[in-house]
Amino acid sequence: MYPFTYHRADTLGDAMAAADADGAAVLAGGTELVNWIRLGVSRPSDVVDINRLPDLSAIELADDTVHIGALARLNDVAGHALVRDRFPVLTQAIHQAASAQLRNLATIGGNPLQMTRCPYFRSEAPTPCNKRRRGSGCAARHGINDQHAIFGWTDDCVAVQPADPATALAAVDAVLVTESARGGRRIPARDLHVLPSQDPTAHHVLRPDEIVTRIELPGAARRSAYVKVRERASYEYAIVAAAVALEIDGTTIRGARIALGSVAMRPWRLHRTEQLLIDSTIGSTEVEAAVAAGFDDARALPHNAHKIPLARNAVLRAIERAAAGEPAMRP
Ligand code: SF4
Repeated sequence: MYPFTYHRADTLGDAMAAADADGAAVLAGGTELVNWIRLGVSRPSDVVDINRLPDLSAIELADDTVHIGALARLNDVAGHALVRDRFPVLTQAIHQAASAQLRNLATIGGNPLQMTRCPYFRSEAPTPCNKRRRGSGCAARHGINDQHAIFGWTDDCVAVQPADPATALAAVDAVLVTESARGGRRIPARDLHVLPSQDPTAHHVLRPDEIVTRIELPGAARRSAYVKVRERASYEYAIVAAAVALEIDGTTIRGARIALGSVAMRPWRLHRTEQLLIDSTIGSTEVEAAVAAGFDDARALPHNAHKIPLARNAVLRAIERAAAGEPAMRP
């Protein structure tokens, strides 16, 4: 361990002021930050604990939008009637995101900000990694890359964003509301993360002093589902994941929103597939063709070609489950 200064913020103003210091890091659930401090990935000079901030854990409905305080714990979000009823895809994603113990601690505002699980990024030995050491290169590009990206990668970084809730939030057009000493923002969940073509060293667009205070889920996505493919069903990061939200009229798809997880450095919306699915019939070859078209621009790395058919099939499975209206929580 190494020394750092601990601040417990009692107001949002305190938290923003403390987070504005160079080298400060915000502590919410701690399931991510403490891990990175332990591995030496993160070395904050100041840790700003925001767990005592009032009014940041409520889950409520206003103007046909579900408002979720950023400090709401994942299990509280997944089990809340508003989320279960309106956004089963988010409940399902959270239940598959981590063990029950972690879900009781991790927050909905912090979880989507988690960093990549690329083994070179996590390595305690110094290996070339542009995310860890700017300009050092990317050991994964020609090294171990079976779990890495099939969309949106560059030679400078081929990592993926692993957060299951982030994928569900991107699929349902959620918005993250932030506050900072320089003013707040509204950030669409699909734009939260940074592709390597934008900046291979970054994970997300938040400034160091910026704190997520709320997540807004507009409308509803009652016909929605999350399918996660992983090596162990009990507890594991995704090889690929698919979040699907449909609007259905009988067996005809009238609208579709689809985000893939663990295939790029951000949840990857399949916009082409979404367009092609409109007016297609559930279970038809049109649906298969529309999903396949979404992968025309997928590019495999030397060791991860298997992820393309896995992701395609995960989308098809998620479409079936969403269309069937499976409950958010299986009995
Ligand atoms: Fe680092 Fe990204 Fe390359 Fe992994 S894929 S070694 S995180 S630069």
